[in-house]
Amino acid sequence: MGEIKFYDTLQAKVREFRPLDPPEVTLYTCGPTVYNYAHIGNFRTFAFEDLLRRFLEFKGLRVRHVMNITDVDDKTIAGAAREKKSLREYTAFYTQAFLEDMKTLGMLPPNVQPLATDSIPDILALVQKLIDREYAYVADDGSVYYRIAQFERYGRLSKKKLDGNVAGARVDVDEYEKEEGADFVLWKAAKEGEPSWDSPWGKGRPGWHIECSAMCMRHLGETVDIHAGGEDLIFPHHENEIAQSEAATGKPFVHYWLHAKHLLVNGEKMSKSQGNFFTLRDLLVKGYDPMAIRFALLSVHYRHSLNFTLEGLKESGEIVKKLDDCYWQCLSRISASEAPGKAVGKIAEKGTVTPDMERALEDDLNVAAFVANMLEHITDLNKALPGMGRADLIECVRFFKGLDALLGLDIAAIDVVPDGIRTVLGQYSDARKAKDFSRSDVLRKEIEKTGWLVKDGRPGEPSTVKKIRRVWDIKK
Ligand code: AMP
Ligand code: ZN
Repeated sequence: MGEIKFYDTLQAKVREFRPLDPPEVTLYTCGPTVYNYAHIGNFRTFAFEDLLRRFLEFKGLRVRHVMNITDVDDKTIAGAAREKKSLREYTAFYTQAFLEDMKTLGMLPPNVQPLATDSIPDILALVQKLIDREYAYVADDGSVYYRIAQFERYGRLSKKKLDGNVAGARVDVDEYEKEEGADFVLWKAAKEGEPSWDSPWGKGRPGWHIECSAMCMRHLGETVDIHAGGEDLIFPHHENEIAQSEAATGKPFVHYWLHAKHLLVNGEKMSKSQGNFFTLRDLLVKGYDPMAIRFALLSVHYRHSLNFTLEGLKESGEIVKKLDDCYWQCLSRISASEAPGKAVGKIAEKGTVTPDMERALEDDLNVAAFVANMLEHITDLNKALPGMGRADLIECVRFFKGLDALLGLDIAAIDVVPDGIRTVLGQYSDARKAKDFSRSDVLRKEIEKTGWLVKDGRPGEPSTVKKIRRVWDIKK
């Protein structure tokens, strides 16, 4: 196996990836805050994390992936209050929508997806530990704060010079951009009308940062291989996670920190607060194929900003179609030469891609090089197809299976042409050969009624079929 390298934000360099306990890899990714539909900026980060996981699995590693759901924080509480709903009812709706969107975009489901509100006992235990170790203190109102001056390495991830918080400033909100550090809140004393839980310090609710530390360590242990998120999480969220977790355990919290750069619209971060966002559903309603959206999100290296345009999305759709067409050419040709009902999938269980493509991803997920190699390979395949024998065609299917394993575009999900379709396709080709076009028209329509498309070959070439991609029925 070639060497895998990732850019680690903490050490600020590309490092060889060595799991703590191979072939296991522990991966924690910060999940959505479920106060609205996720936008495609959020999905850029989730798509990158999905590629990361798929690549590690492709390399034979066994990934244990935990992604939390932030269902109690400033934003969810404000949203529930605005809609006069209970926090549970409000967040359950957006959690469900998020899971549906993840599925639509072909993301692998995490092994565990804990809710912050189901993790209160772990959170309380962690806060208590920090108080016992004098990294945290209880304020007069019953809120608990993290004392950043106590943690020497504070600021190392974000490279901020935070000189010990001499002023003793405190910050109560979950998101802030203060240049100077401030003692941040671990547990917030209950406010009138807000959801709260009992604690040794009175009724209250957790701050956002402590939730991730508690859920990560509960489900993956005190030290994890990889922790990932969008670049906006570096400070304060991940900086605070390190401070909390390492102060509590005395051990390194994370071996590799990976962060995706933002998806931008006209040079600005796509965000709810700017109002410059598309949800996945907005795009599906406009008729875009989810796999085109997925490809658009994945096709720029995760450490480069991705400037999102509908024009770019159309180009992504064309690339997905190109892959799809090539795949169906291969499969139709195999079907034409084969006994009925034999699934190519059985012969081609393990997918593969070209060595160049694999090497590109080993190099810090260099997706630009990967895609360039992929497109070259497709051009070569299209040229070579007419002369290919069965063994070559099966190699070709294996290639698409490998591509799916990595990019998750579901190109080769169907790996057998049903006997019924093959029979009619045979009759169709015979009718065309006999120049009986009225009959071939009837047969073509018969095939198309079942959700398949017929594509005529060039002179002397067989006609091929292609399954039409699913049409999306969106409720919003
Ligand atoms: P949130 O739901 O706000 O907690 O964000 C979920 C994930 O989306 C986090 O990893 C964020 O860093 C990421 N994120 C938010 N906005 C963007 C954006 N415009 N581009 C890429 N990732 C983003
Ligand atoms: Zn988090």
